[in-house]
Amino acid sequence: MIIKPKVRGFICTTSHPTGCAANVQEQIDYVKAQSFADADKPKNVLVLGCSTGYGLASRLVSTFGFGAKTVGVMFEKEASEKRPGSAGWYNTRAFEKAADEAGIYNKTFNGDAFSNEIKEQVIAEIKENVGQIDLVVYSLAAPRRKDPVTGEVYSSVLKPVGEPVTRKTYNTDTKEVSEVTLEPATQEEIDATIKVMGGEDWELWINALDEAGVLADNAKTTAYTYIGKELTWPIYGKASIGKAKEDLDRAASAMNDKFSAKGLEARVGVLKALVTQASSAIPVMPLYIPLLYKVMKEQGTHEGCIEQIYRLLGEEWYGGRAPTLDEQGRIRVDLWELDDKVQSEVEALWPQCTTETVNDLADVKGYQDEFLKLFGFGVEGVDYDADVNPIV
Ligand code: NAD
Repeated sequence: MIIKPKVRGFICTTSHPTGCAANVQEQIDYVKAQSFADADKPKNVLVLGCSTGYGLASRLVSTFGFGAKTVGVMFEKEASEKRPGSAGWYNTRAFEKAADEAGIYNKTFNGDAFSNEIKEQVIAEIKENVGQIDLVVYSLAAPRRKDPVTGEVYSSVLKPVGEPVTRKTYNTDTKEVSEVTLEPATQEEIDATIKVMGGEDWELWINALDEAGVLADNAKTTAYTYIGKELTWPIYGKASIGKAKEDLDRAASAMNDKFSAKGLEARVGVLKALVTQASSAIPVMPLYIPLLYKVMKEQGTHEGCIEQIYRLLGEEWYGGRAPTLDEQGRIRVDLWELDDKVQSEVEALWPQCTTETVNDLADVKGYQDEFLKLFGFGVEGVDYDADVNPIV
């Protein structure tokens, strides 16, 4: 099969197995070139949302940086004779091949991480083949969640809170800069967003692992968040998704209290804005991220998922020193993005962006290349005219 990108809005419905494998290898090479402190490495890591973006990077750092056994959970489309699989499917096949070759245990579950069934299957596997988990990374980004007790399905929304918000954005299909007005979320929508992207399921996982006796003493757990600044607050930090992310702080604090005798350390990890499948769906981000990329590349502080997660896990949390924390006890690796030098430059460029100027003022090309790369396209050295077997 010859596989070409088919982009619809913020989704690409095809993925390229060879390109995805090359992306994974590039990240593995990066991890292998970094140094890791000798002491205090996690041995058995559970990554929820392990197949793309920040979760995949967390699994790669755990495997190839710490040498840890990993169990991963993802929600991906398997490849068939007729249709390519999803990018996360191919990323995971490439990861498993590399981990197997390195002789490092890995097991992946493809299913709904919010369900009791997947929790039971994962725990059975951990009991049989892993032992106890000493690091749990919670990196799910999902549009909906079925409550495992009531069966009710909740959908998250990306809407402001309180007032309508009008903001510029960039439409990647029409290549136009235009204003969008977003109506505020209702209380019901905010509550549903908290149900999906808040801390409840993170707590359910930790409880289930503990009850099954597979949570190690002094284990650590992190869930990822984005905070941002004035430019993104109306649609992220102080919007419906920001309310859900605040609930992660509540959950971290509740778990630290509940499991204090066990020595559990639950911390929210704050990461920078990057092109991933999840962030492409957020209004305004398609303009903010290209501007941010332009400024951070020029200032020499641009990073991708793997660099961020190496700093978070490799340097901050397992770096043989106390991590740098904010007042809420969160680990911050997003501060280069929030630096005044970066934000003031982005703010200065923002009003100048129009359909005519956006390509010069913002790194639109970098953004679009990276978006396609998420699906394995535009990767150097890959022959996209070659016939590939979609089943790997
Ligand atoms: P992503 O879309 O690349 O990854 C999401 C992962 O979740 C994938 O592995 C997917 O298979 C998995 N998943 C989704 N639904 C699932 C389900 N029901 N069951 C099992 N697995 C499921 O997203 P990302 O951008 O890497 O986001 C990961 C986390 O990082 C999110 O909490 C996000 O809010 C946070 N974050 C993202 C950014 C950013 O700019 N991308 C910045 C800061 C924080």
